[in-house]
Amino acid sequence: PALGARVHGLRGETMGTTWWVLWADRDATRQAAVRAAIEAELDLVVAQMSTWLPSSDLSRFNRAAPGSRHTLPEAFADVLQAALWLAEASAGAFNPAAGALVNRWGFGPAPRHTDPGFTPPDETELCAALRTQDWRRLAFDAATREATQPGGLLLDLSAIAKGHAVDRVARALAGLGIAHALVEVGGELRGQGLRPDGMPWWVELECPPVAPGHSPPPPTRVALHGLSVATSGDYRRAYRHQGRHLPHSIDPRSGRPVAHGLASVSVLHTEALWADAWSTALTVAGRDAGLALAEAHGIAALFVQREADGGLTETLTGAMARLAG
Ligand code: ADP
Ligand code: MG
Ligand code: MG
Repeated sequence: PALGARVHGLRGETMGTTWWVLWADRDATRQAAVRAAIEAELDLVVAQMSTWLPSSDLSRFNRAAPGSRHTLPEAFADVLQAALWLAEASAGAFNPAAGALVNRWGFGPAPRHTDPGFTPPDETELCAALRTQDWRRLAFDAATREATQPGGLLLDLSAIAKGHAVDRVARALAGLGIAHALVEVGGELRGQGLRPDGMPWWVELECPPVAPGHSPPPPTRVALHGLSVATSGDYRRAYRHQGRHLPHSIDPRSGRPVAHGLASVSVLHTEALWADAWSTALTVAGRDAGLALAEAHGIAALFVQREADGGLTETLTGAMARLAG
């Protein structure tokens, strides 16, 4: 631990959500420098990968003419490469080219599901959006960072970019000599080093809301000692339409918001990028397929299933059972 250090904190807003950072430091005079370093990393991720910012590299790629070639900036290329790998590994449960579906269900920049007069897609619109989301149409060379827009392919890296932002912030802090820190962006966390009292950064995994008459499962606590955690929940960004619950995780195979009763999936990984991406992939896969996928890749995951009677049932992968305290 950093003997004689005090815990400092900063917070702010980015990517339509909030961030905060705690760090242990003997030097109490460098808040401004730390904030500037954090915001530079967050701004870089937004400038490259935001679907909301029309001037981002990703938005410009999405608008580009069919057949046009683009040399992607380094962070965008790295995140895209990871996303394409997970798309293959998860047989398309994770899909970086689901932008058209995300938009049409009202979770993109516009139209929003909260806008007056918004209606979910009909069958024809769904088919049109489904035709654009084959990530294999994307020719991407990771060595040269060159990507070709095949025409109408809409990238959406929102399920992985926040995790990457957390990793960047943690590395920037390490670059400032800050070895002991806890970083959060929009619910994704990464902890490195120790608190000044010599303890690791313990966190409690967020539990989904439980129906009246049921007790919540006992809290799961993890020590983020060189570890990241991400939780995907069906209750955070969602709306109801004609009695159906529509969360912002879309199953690209059906083109519809997931509806298989997973209340949340938490994933632990050394990299927040992978924790974020895997939690989305496993949410879309559903509990049984997700468990098999996570076990096959040695992923530490906690599945919380919403049962028909409103109760919550937890299932842990082997790797998660070894890490959760
Ligand atoms: P959660 O924290 O609930 O996992 P994320 O923010 O990580 O949510 O990812 C959800 C976002 O990812 C959606 O708002 C959408 O932009 C995008 N998305 C939705 N479905 C998929 C999918 N199947 N694969 C990849 N990205 C998706
Ligand atoms: Mg995610
Ligand atoms: Mg997430």
